[in-house]
Amino acid sequence: MISGFSFAFLTKIGILSYMVIRMRHTRAHTGNRRSHHALKAKTFGACANCAKPKETHTVCKNCGFYRGRRVVDVVKKVEKKQAKKAAK
Ligand SMILES: [Zn+2]
Repeated sequence: MISGFSFAFLTKIGILSYMVIRMRHTRAHTGNRRSHHALKAKTFGACANCAKPKETHTVCKNCGFYRGRRVVDVVKKVEKKQAKKAAK
């Protein structure tokens, strides 16, 4: 053993290893896999009701409309949030 350290200790910290890397990937293989990992920028469209930019396929955060119909009561939501903040 190297200067009195146990076999278990040396294998644990990685100096000594009997493991064989069977499924090693080349750098190209890794790069090819990671070529799909990039994040895409979110796409925004204009709200049909208030014309503010909003995420596509989601409720407008400004007016609470989705496909010409009011889904979320924005005023009520804001009031609820303020009441909660005031209660703290
Ligand atoms: Zn809107």
